[in-house]
Amino acid sequence: MQNADQDSWSRVKERLRADVGDDVYSSWFARMDLEALEESTVRLSVPTRFLKSWIQSHYAERVLACWQAHDAKVGRIELIVRSAVLRSAAPAKPRAEAVPAAANGHGDAARFNGHARPILPGDANVHEALGGSPLDPRLTFDSFVVGRSNTLAQAAAKQVATAKRSDPVMFNPLYIHAGVGLGKTHLLQAITWAGNATGERKVLYLTAEKFMYGFVSALRTQTALAFKEALRGIGVLVIDDLQFLQGKSTQAEFCHTLNALIDAGRQVVIASDRPPSDLESLDDRVRSRLAGGLVVEMGGLGEELRFEILKARVMAARAHHPTFDVPQPVLSYIAKTVTHNGRDLEGALNRLLAHSKLTGHAVTLEMAEREVRDLIRPQEPKRVKIEDIQRIVARQYNVSRSDLLSSRRTANVVRPRQVAMYLAKTLTLRSLPEIGRRFGGRDHTTVLHAVRKIEGLVGNDVALAEEIEGLKRQLQE
Ligand code: ADP
Ligand code: MG
Repeated sequence: MQNADQDSWSRVKERLRADVGDDVYSSWFARMDLEALEESTVRLSVPTRFLKSWIQSHYAERVLACWQAHDAKVGRIELIVRSAVLRSAAPAKPRAEAVPAAANGHGDAARFNGHARPILPGDANVHEALGGSPLDPRLTFDSFVVGRSNTLAQAAAKQVATAKRSDPVMFNPLYIHAGVGLGKTHLLQAITWAGNATGERKVLYLTAEKFMYGFVSALRTQTALAFKEALRGIGVLVIDDLQFLQGKSTQAEFCHTLNALIDAGRQVVIASDRPPSDLESLDDRVRSRLAGGLVVEMGGLGEELRFEILKARVMAARAHHPTFDVPQPVLSYIAKTVTHNGRDLEGALNRLLAHSKLTGHAVTLEMAEREVRDLIRPQEPKRVKIEDIQRIVARQYNVSRSDLLSSRRTANVVRPRQVAMYLAKTLTLRSLPEIGRRFGGRDHTTVLHAVRKIEGLVGNDVALAEEIEGLKRQLQE
């Protein structure tokens, strides 16, 4: 294609932007490219099928008119999906199958079907009206206990919930990650309750599944406009359990929506069970956009925090069951032994409550020991991260982490790099290609070679074997 054609395209884009306004332009046209200009046909491409169908049904004539204003001989616009070549090689599944069914049967799908209510300021049911996932009234900031492992996440969440419409967005997206049962959903729903209570910015809470379900059903029923209108009324979009987002086209559409919201200055909050860099199925651009705001990890609940959570829970339960009492030693015992996560703590207390209600007996230590026995799990091995491996290996061998990721092949970096790859393979569940990607975009065969090399060496080299054992201990303690 000639430069002149690209120049024309730039001019047409400027005209289009002036025509539809910045907001609409950045939502729908920012990622549109010129592929070819042949005689009277202009071929344009967009990254997703959704964008294609939306632009076709809403803006085809505008785009054509803008071209014609610039170049009268253009008679036709052809719109294609950029990755269409790849897609046609492996026929995409019908959309309905590509999307997980909604987690509950409350008929939420209908909410996006063109009946999105106009969103009035102060609408108490705004969350309902927007088709949000169900919220648990107990999951608020008041009931969220703050401790060492979640201070930063809680502070960031509070900031988002209380920000005024006119405040500049401080970090976008806010991305919170933690293992199961460590309070992600609690914090996200707390943002939703608190944000909607102030009425400053509408907050919509969606599980990733619901997000895609609403989105895709909107496409199927040709009501993308209603969906778009609904999104327009949202100040904060909260998405829980992002790791469940599946399917290439679904993800492309997620990416587009994420970009559109962030570009329009809307706050996005995301929770997932892993950091952005470990969302293996998402492509690099989405990952980097996700990592581009504030990424906060919530660690395990320490014993002290578990104790405080239990205490708060007992207080809350007493509102309904005034005779329910759990002596301090029992709380300490549970906090010490039920270590796994917040859900097990809740389960333990529910059993004590049920037991004391049903038998009328006071809660004692013996009873607690009996009731929670099966919730006491052996210590799980720590989740080792590739980043930690790189950091600790780099420190051990006195090189920098970027040396490990670089393409340098001097002996003083090659061996540490191989050791780090070997540890990544043996201490994490990551695949060889994933490990390669995390080591500066190397091929999986390189990783395999490194793993074999180190395996071979440790058989003969006692010093190296000990060194590696030492590194493993550091990583797992
Ligand atoms: P996740 O979404 O991370 O899997 P949840 O938010 O569902 O975890 O938390 C599991 C349980 O633990 C919930 O009952 C939640 O209220 C409780 N919980 C977790 N962290 C806290 C906390 N810091 N304060 C109070 N309750 C908590
Ligand atoms: Mg959750």
